Amino acid sequence: MRHAGMPAGFAIFEHLFQNCRIVVYHGIMSTAPRIAAAKRDWGHDEVGCTVLHIDMDAFFASLEVARHPEYADKPVIIGIGNRSVVSAANYEARKYGINSAMASSRARKLCPNGVFLPVDIHYYREMSRRIFTEVFSRVTDRIEQVSVDECYMDVSGALLRWKSPRAIGAWIRDQVARRYHITCSVGIAANKLVAKMASTNAKPDGMLMIPVARHAEFVQMMPLRGIPGIGPSLEKRLNAWGVDSVADLAKMSMESLEQATGSAISARGLYMAARGLDDRPVAPRAQGKSVGAERTFDKDTQDMRQVTSMLRWCCDDVAGTLRRRGLMARKVMVKLRFPDLSYATKGHTLDCPTDAASMLYPQCVALLLAMMGMPESSIDAISLTRPVRLAGMSAGGLVEAADAAVQLSLDDMLEEQNEAQRGRGTDTEPSTQSERLRGAEAALDAVRLKYGKGSVRLGIWRTGPSGNLEH
Ligand SMILES: [Mg+2]
Repeated sequence: MRHAGMPAGFAIFEHLFQNCRIVVYHGIMSTAPRIAAAKRDWGHDEVGCTVLHIDMDAFFASLEVARHPEYADKPVIIGIGNRSVVSAANYEARKYGINSAMASSRARKLCPNGVFLPVDIHYYREMSRRIFTEVFSRVTDRIEQVSVDECYMDVSGALLRWKSPRAIGAWIRDQVARRYHITCSVGIAANKLVAKMASTNAKPDGMLMIPVARHAEFVQMMPLRGIPGIGPSLEKRLNAWGVDSVADLAKMSMESLEQATGSAISARGLYMAARGLDDRPVAPRAQGKSVGAERTFDKDTQDMRQVTSMLRWCCDDVAGTLRRRGLMARKVMVKLRFPDLSYATKGHTLDCPTDAASMLYPQCVALLLAMMGMPESSIDAISLTRPVRLAGMSAGGLVEAADAAVQLSLDDMLEEQNEAQRGRGTDTEPSTQSERLRGAEAALDAVRLKYGKGSVRLGIWRTGPSGNLEH
């Protein structure tokens, strides 16, 4: 809420510290000041540092370079037209003094040889969606997306599996670079404020972890504008009180801050920020309701085996993610994109929740056949009825594995009965087929973790129409 007579900076600051969700479209180039001296090793004590702030580096411009490698090392500016403004510029272009929200015509004067491109927001959104679902959501669903290229992540739960916040940050950076040929920066701290300031100072293509004991010191080396929420007008107001840096701010009492800002909420926000404190939780919005994987083929293909192999790879990938996140899926969906870029999806609800690729995959094959208008008996067909450009699958209806009373499927129940009749079932050993498969896949996770992802893959059985199993 902006009160009469209150400078704009105050209003933003109040919002920031009241957990209000404000969406300020400012382009996606960060103009927050960075301090070279801040980009250093702050120590290795990660205890309590469970908040990650992830921010893509020059996102729009980087995506353009990724799809036009010929622009690498050239200044790339997004936003053309005499009356438009720059919405992104890569680091090469920034060397010419180009900034977001600058008139494109001015940018052209500063950098006449730059590559100027129109904004392709659909492409950037699609890539953003993919990065969030294919990388970020593999770590946790505690993700608060702030913009198309930025999010906070609460990894306190994920640490059980990942052991260290830095390992998570490194994995994310590696995946984003490898899969999409762009870079991101990661800040790691105990709260959102310091995590964000850390990622800003880690840029470009860096990672900065600030141990809890050093939060205040880190924040206090910054200029006032280094605190997100302090804009030009608030800075001016504080300057008038003799406050020129965060260190100065930290010397002010709550009372004088209230006088300086005229607002108890802003005063509290500044008081806490100056000490590297922030009690806003990471607040996921729409929870990641599904985990998916998809790939585009090098060439459009009608080859049944090629498409099912791709689905198998996707199932393996997705099931691994589910197990890592302690989730089970109740739904499976197959997505196909065709050469004319149209696409189709088809889903199915499972008899019982699963996190096993060997359970997901046969469903995907059945869905694929249905989407192709092919009978189930055509499982050994060589060719699909039409070529596809992309194939993928996703697992939805996610439930916590711990909460999911793993209902037994009818097959399992029959098998269990048989076991019981034979007197071989025990309480401690996995007795049903699905439990055995899950156990086998979980064992593979451990091998992959140690030796790399491509090191091993479970031969997933394909259930033929007659119910026989084949490799
Ligand atoms: Mg960014």
